[in-house]
Amino acid sequence: MKIFNTLTMHKEEFVPIEPGKVRMYVCGPTVYNLIHIGNARPMIVFDTVRRYLEHKGYEVNYVSNFTDVDDKIIKAAIEEGVSADVISQRYIAECKKDMEGMNVRPATTHPLATQEIGGMIDMISDLIEKGHAYEKNGTVYFRTRSFPGYGKLSGKNLDDLRSGFRDLKVSGEDEKEDPLDFVLWKPKKEGEPSWPSPWSDGRPGWHIECSVMSKKYLGESIDIHAGGEDLVFPHHENEIAQSESCSGHIFANYWMHNAFLNIDNRKMSKSLGNFFTVRDISEKYDLQVLRIFMLSAHYRSPLNFSADLMEAAGNSLERIRRAADRLSDLAASAAVTDLQPAENEILAEVKAHVDRFDEKMDDDANTADALSVIFDLVRYANTNVTETASKALAQGTLDVLTMLCDILGIIALPEKEIPDAGIEALIEERQAARKARNFARADEIRDQLKAMGIELMDTKQGVKWSRK
Ligand code: AMP
Ligand code: ZN
Repeated sequence: MKIFNTLTMHKEEFVPIEPGKVRMYVCGPTVYNLIHIGNARPMIVFDTVRRYLEHKGYEVNYVSNFTDVDDKIIKAAIEEGVSADVISQRYIAECKKDMEGMNVRPATTHPLATQEIGGMIDMISDLIEKGHAYEKNGTVYFRTRSFPGYGKLSGKNLDDLRSGFRDLKVSGEDEKEDPLDFVLWKPKKEGEPSWPSPWSDGRPGWHIECSVMSKKYLGESIDIHAGGEDLVFPHHENEIAQSESCSGHIFANYWMHNAFLNIDNRKMSKSLGNFFTVRDISEKYDLQVLRIFMLSAHYRSPLNFSADLMEAAGNSLERIRRAADRLSDLAASAAVTDLQPAENEILAEVKAHVDRFDEKMDDDANTADALSVIFDLVRYANTNVTETASKALAQGTLDVLTMLCDILGIIALPEKEIPDAGIEALIEERQAARKARNFARADEIRDQLKAMGIELMDTKQGVKWSRK
């Protein structure tokens, strides 16, 4: 697979540090509100990269943090009159619900910044010891010019940066040795969450969080580090400076950045009134539609959100699901079981779509072209797998279609909701089994219903049931 590496600005063949294994870190959201559809882009894109790497046979250790200590969280907590913890816990839970709705798989580990403070204090101490950081009045700064590679990710030049900073004297900045230096630890202000440290009761800077969590869960050197393009500078540049100054090794071999999502060709912002949360979208659309919409563009191209494009994505989802449904019905009702000689060629052509799909994904995760391969397959199946198809052909085609969709996180064949009548028939059967003192069967049915998300309540009026 080739990956466009922001570090070299080239597409490079992906070679993991350890054969067969991938260590991947994706910067996660700051949890002070429901996530917006911009935040959803890296989640969907990099979840898809992970799924594809797994399809290629890699074991992927996927780490994505929640930034749960931050000015915005503290501000939200003060506004509501609750602790910062209440805000971050609430929005982590809500974010996980949105991820599930978008079929974004949970990370192998979702570390929380507030649970990793010890590691951050250790890394900051190490940086001070090595001369890469210094303390002034309880604040610890990273000595930017002590890291010779600074600017290698963003392509920024230290002298240009410094002259840009010259006029920008922010209060409290005077104590820095150099305007380029950035905060690793800052003392608390009244009412803020804080942790004791050798320098002050305070909290970590944002950049050090990711350096520490990446190291703890994935090791000093990792394969892929990813996030939105706004993170290239300063966040990722600073992460590299901290981690490499500490370890002396390359921090991450491949840097992937998604471009931004705009709304009706304008930057999404609350003040422009064009700000949508994933939850807003879920009230109007199946979040699978949002997923198809996100994947219908290359992740490094800006993407414009509009009702028209969402409608097109909705139609695409429909087309895939109709085809999957038809194949499933054909497999269930086929008159012949085994593949017929005349069908060999058709099944081979169906399977050839897998290589075509892989070719597109191998080219820097080109999900837009990979989706086109799925539509080619849908078209091919609609004309070539017909009522006369054997079960083997219908099922084989369905398997290829669902597998390719699954790599993109698209559910081609959603589990059908069991109709009420079916549930009631099972409940009646359970009552009959109980009457006949066949408790084993009665329990079996109860378990079966439970697995289907049906809860039973024995009342005086008889058995009542509800869907979970
Ligand atoms: P934040 O909570 O702002 O740190 O953002 C979490 C992730 O969402 C980061 O990877 C950001 O780069 C990404 N992100 C934020 N806004 C957008 C947007 N409009 N389009 C694409 N990605 C975004
Ligand atoms: Zn980060």
